[in-house]
Amino acid sequence: MAICWQWDEPKRQRKLHTVGDYIFWSYSMLSVSREIMERTRKGEPSPHPNGRTKAANILMSHFQGSQKKIRDLDRDDRLSQDGAHVCAHFGCLSSKYHWDHMVPRSKLYGLYIPLNQVRSCPRCNISRGAKDLMGWHRENQTFPSLGILRRYLKICYYYSQQHGYLDLSVENAALERLPFEPRNFPRKFPPLEQLVWDYAYKGPQA
Ligand SMILES: [Zn+2]
Repeated sequence: MAICWQWDEPKRQRKLHTVGDYIFWSYSMLSVSREIMERTRKGEPSPHPNGRTKAANILMSHFQGSQKKIRDLDRDDRLSQDGAHVCAHFGCLSSKYHWDHMVPRSKLYGLYIPLNQVRSCPRCNISRGAKDLMGWHRENQTFPSLGILRRYLKICYYYSQQHGYLDLSVENAALERLPFEPRNFPRKFPPLEQLVWDYAYKGPQA
């Protein structure tokens, strides 16, 4: 069920420096991918005929210029309540589940992050341990569902905003014990037909 992905980096890519840059880029690619997926499902043409990268570049500038904001987690919260009980990572079925922390608890030094937990089968939970979420996917050559990626990026965004990391270069942020690795966020996304929005939901959703 897992999406296999080699994580090869794009050949020509926009230069990213700060923690904010890395979050905004991945989030822009995610938003654009989702928009096209929704239109395709309705049988409508893509709103971005020039491709995802071009559209993401424009969207990213809007995030950087604050004309556009990353919305809070309310909607993600609602969606996380009523989904099917499957492993959030790959949709694995299991007789029991663990709660896996997207940002590892061991890196938070007692700090609590709302909505940081996702349902995980024991196998995925144990295999991941306290590894960086996207680092773990890179190692396994898998790609997360877009629903999980969105929630993770939002958590990373709000955490960075609250702690003043957004404008720090990723190198400096790493030295300051940032509890996630922005350089592991996806820059290039798998083809649309390989993407999964959310393993816990079969049909279309809000
Ligand atoms: Zn699993």
